[in-house]
Amino acid sequence: MANKDYYGTLGVNKNASEDEIKAAYRGLAKKYHPDLNKTPEAAEKFKEINEAYSVLSDKQKRANYDQFGSADGPQGFGGGQGFSGFGGGDFGGFEDIFNIFSNFGGRGPAQMQEEGEDIIANVSITLEESAFGCEKEITVNRNERCPDCGGTGAKTNSDYVTCSECNGTGRVTRVQQTLFGTTRTTGVCRNCNGKGKVVKNKCSTCRGSGVKLTSTKVKVKIPAGIDNGQVLLRQGEGHRTASNNGVPGDLRVNITILPHPLLVRNGFNLYVDVYAPITTLMLGGKIKIPTLKGTQDLTIEPLTQSNTKYTLRGKGIKVLKGFGTGDLIVTLKGEMPKDIDKDTTKLIKELDAKINPKAYQKTNNYNKKISDLK
Ligand SMILES: [Zn+2]
Ligand SMILES: [Zn+2]
Repeated sequence: MANKDYYGTLGVNKNASEDEIKAAYRGLAKKYHPDLNKTPEAAEKFKEINEAYSVLSDKQKRANYDQFGSADGPQGFGGGQGFSGFGGGDFGGFEDIFNIFSNFGGRGPAQMQEEGEDIIANVSITLEESAFGCEKEITVNRNERCPDCGGTGAKTNSDYVTCSECNGTGRVTRVQQTLFGTTRTTGVCRNCNGKGKVVKNKCSTCRGSGVKLTSTKVKVKIPAGIDNGQVLLRQGEGHRTASNNGVPGDLRVNITILPHPLLVRNGFNLYVDVYAPITTLMLGGKIKIPTLKGTQDLTIEPLTQSNTKYTLRGKGIKVLKGFGTGDLIVTLKGEMPKDIDKDTTKLIKELDAKINPKAYQKTNNYNKKISDLK
């Protein structure tokens, strides 16, 4: 018996835990089960995977394999405990195999539920729409049951006939020789894909698919407070299935919030930088600030510092699926004039001497700290 690389077969390393081995085996068994995988190598590969798992899932056999390169230990080669002996019922993996494939074997055509695919749509809304909620009508191209054949895919009713391979049951039983003896597996009929019926002449509208891509308008209610990048789920608004008892897919709507010219959202708060002439900061006055509902006035006290922040409570975004509303946070920025003439420069020099005299410069807190650093 040549030494086989069971770890390699399952694609795990030598220190793999029992759970890792089981998970790897399940994945591979699904991939290569001859009921599901119709490539010529699948059956052989499936056998190898089962062999590897039968050893690595058994503590004693795995230990023997690790030590001696064989599941049976040093003397086991002719002892009747080889791989041919698994029919005795000590094979721990059998239940696992059964669990995996009961998904496929247990369903007849009556329970076979077709599932429609999901549809992904993108919707762009304004900041105001995200703040107050809105309704959008979006156009989706989705599969609808073909109106001409009612989803059968057949040209006429007499072109829709019972499958001769499975006699309409949608399932066939196959007998397989495996490591643990002869097993019967019941799987989906390949001839009719489990439908129990086959189409003799295809419907010309849907070319036998039973569905037709149709442009449909769907109204989507977008709740107040939704944020950029969030996804709305509309169950059952995705692709329809050909069969009557199929489950339609969902519609997933990706929300993009278009940038506002001034307001910036972060969480449920809004932020804005407001610019006023430096003289307004000195003298005080009224400035206009943007809000979600037009502009409003903000009164500035005389001698307001640049970068002063104002919090306007409740002027932000409504909390999605919650109570309360965020705030609008205004940062006031003093803005320099772009250009000044000689006369104005002279005035500013006079002003500077008045508001920034030498005596003041010496007592100025900041200037004192700066000179202390030297
Ligand atoms: Zn049709
Ligand atoms: Zn069939």
